[in-house]
Amino acid sequence: MSDHLMNTYMRQPVTFVKGEGVWLWDDKGEKYLDALAGVAVNGLGHAHPELVRAISEQAGKLIHVSNIYNIAEQAALADKLCEISGMDKVFFCNSGCEANEAAIKLARLYGHNKGIANPEIIVMDKSFHGRTMATLSATGNRKVQAGFEPLVGGFVRVPYDDVEAVKHVAEHNPNIVAILVEPVQGEGGINIPKEASAYLEALRQICDAHGWLLMLDEVQTGIARTGTWFAFQHTAIKPDVMSLAKGLGSGVPIGACVAAGKAAEVFTYGKHGSTFGGNPLACAAGLATLNAIEQENLRENAEKIGNLLREGFNAEFKNVKGVTTTRNAGLMIGIELDRPCADIVKMALEAKLLVNVTAENVVRLLPPLVMSEAEAQALIQRLCSVIKAFLNS
Ligand SMILES: *Cc1c(COP(=O)(O)O)cnc(C)c1O
Repeated sequence: MSDHLMNTYMRQPVTFVKGEGVWLWDDKGEKYLDALAGVAVNGLGHAHPELVRAISEQAGKLIHVSNIYNIAEQAALADKLCEISGMDKVFFCNSGCEANEAAIKLARLYGHNKGIANPEIIVMDKSFHGRTMATLSATGNRKVQAGFEPLVGGFVRVPYDDVEAVKHVAEHNPNIVAILVEPVQGEGGINIPKEASAYLEALRQICDAHGWLLMLDEVQTGIARTGTWFAFQHTAIKPDVMSLAKGLGSGVPIGACVAAGKAAEVFTYGKHGSTFGGNPLACAAGLATLNAIEQENLRENAEKIGNLLREGFNAEFKNVKGVTTTRNAGLMIGIELDRPCADIVKMALEAKLLVNVTAENVVRLLPPLVMSEAEAQALIQRLCSVIKAFLNS
């Protein structure tokens, strides 16, 4: 490893050199099963032929021109995102935190336009929205914030999955302009609201009653991860604003802030911008990703394989003390243990399996959307041996 990289990551001792589908190979020729997909990014798996073709073709024509010109691929991707979400307008950026920055700026501007001088946004405990100053301030995890004070103000925090807490704020705080919430919390430990659709529907009602914007952070849940294009499509509601990134470009950096109705008209000329955001290469990757998800029925596959994995793990862990629960929303899967289990990442790597541990005691799986039933069975076998070995160690 180079001495010239800042120490921001605890890196696993492995260097991957190529991939295909759900499989990766390291520089020694060892083959690994990828159940993390670059943290919900490589939905199409590795080296998907249609994606490779689209990116190569676009790179040979035009990679970047600047947003001061029309960009045909960007217009096409915006049209497609609005078609599949039922929303109206898109701002393109390069990452999840930037998509949330755009949402936060949009909410503040919306408030100022209504005459609220100090607009505030409701955010949740255990949330994760990114690591820029505004998004780490919105994030409900002290570890992400510590050392970076003073934090950005204007956020009011409530417990996740607690409608009464939001109602209480609504009664007492006239400065609120929006709620920012993940439909399923990813980094926070695959936290699924007890009645997921009822929760979002209740938040929608409160927003409507008070003229607030409902802003969903779908950076991790979006792009077919939970079995629908976007997690809100499991419910009867539509958000005013939605942030996307991770799976959208299959690894080519792209983020999007999508807005509907009155929220879509808030940003006007000069209010926001990005040098790289929505360039031809990134948008070609986004279009190829959405097309492949559609053509290969990957939403249906995410739901099917997600449920197969949960049932498989439940069967394996039925009488295993130490495993508290297994939960999933499509291919967002959490296996909660009764103890901190960070060591499982290393043990899994030794067993040629890529997984992640979040919230200290939750093994998190975010497999590629293209995973087959046979590959899912292989994942169950490998991970169960690792978890049982960990619990017996
Ligand atoms: C990963 C993530 C982000 C941050 O995305 P970056 O691209 O790393 O900035 C924001 N919100 C959620 C829900 C995420 O999972």
